[in-house]
Amino acid sequence: MAALSPSAPSRRSRRKSDRRIVEEKQLTLPGTDLDFLFQRDGCRSLRMTVKADGSVRVRAPAGLPMSRVFSFMRARLTWIQEKRTFFAAHRGPCVPARDGATTLYLARPFTIRPVPAPKNAMARLVGHVLELPCRCRGGDAEADAKALERAFRRWQKNMAHLVLGRRLSRMDRLTRSVFNDDRHVSSLVVRSLKRRWGSCSARGEITLAVQLIAMPLPLIDYVLCHELCHLRVMNHGPRFHALLHTLLPDAKKREQLIHIWGLEHPR
Ligand SMILES: [Zn+2]
Repeated sequence: MAALSPSAPSRRSRRKSDRRIVEEKQLTLPGTDLDFLFQRDGCRSLRMTVKADGSVRVRAPAGLPMSRVFSFMRARLTWIQEKRTFFAAHRGPCVPARDGATTLYLARPFTIRPVPAPKNAMARLVGHVLELPCRCRGGDAEADAKALERAFRRWQKNMAHLVLGRRLSRMDRLTRSVFNDDRHVSSLVVRSLKRRWGSCSARGEITLAVQLIAMPLPLIDYVLCHELCHLRVMNHGPRFHALLHTLLPDAKKREQLIHIWGLEHPR
């Protein structure tokens, strides 16, 4: 039986070293006004990404000549522009929770209103208004704004626990019967997540973004099904997508809609 050389890096450690950045600088593509972040790391091929804010990042293998990097980018100038146009068209404002602002609950708009109330009073959805019990003192605008923001976050988290928790339990049961197995969610954590909508650990612990509560239910269901499929397959390979497709035949469409939703509703 062949023995592995002790110095041979495992697949996992090689991937980790791939990400190690050995050089990083801000550059402009010669002959254009395109600024970009240039990084060299242990990757094997050139990679370019356009982020939601329109910024461009290029990662190159160590030792690759800059002329190759520049010609690679020049050949993709139209693609960069298309990406930037798409992001600009869908970029939404980040609105703080203040008196009169609009918030979304299951994609329905509600106007935020602070209401004087005794301690431990519950927030209420009344018509198109979200009444938030808030100990505003008046006279100190900054302190009042913070109190309202805290009351809003409390409401958002409570609703997310209630709505996402119930929905997840239901979907958990459903997926067990569809896949005829006994994989189940061991615990649910709801918290503010800035980059992801959810995650699932190998022990079956699911974490969901509190911000999901603003989404339409079909998109929430996509996130829940995605994480429930991770209970069975931890990666995003063909088996994972086959499971997801079984649960949601239009999963691809919903994934695209979530991407756009994330751009239009920055967290
Ligand atoms: Zn995933």
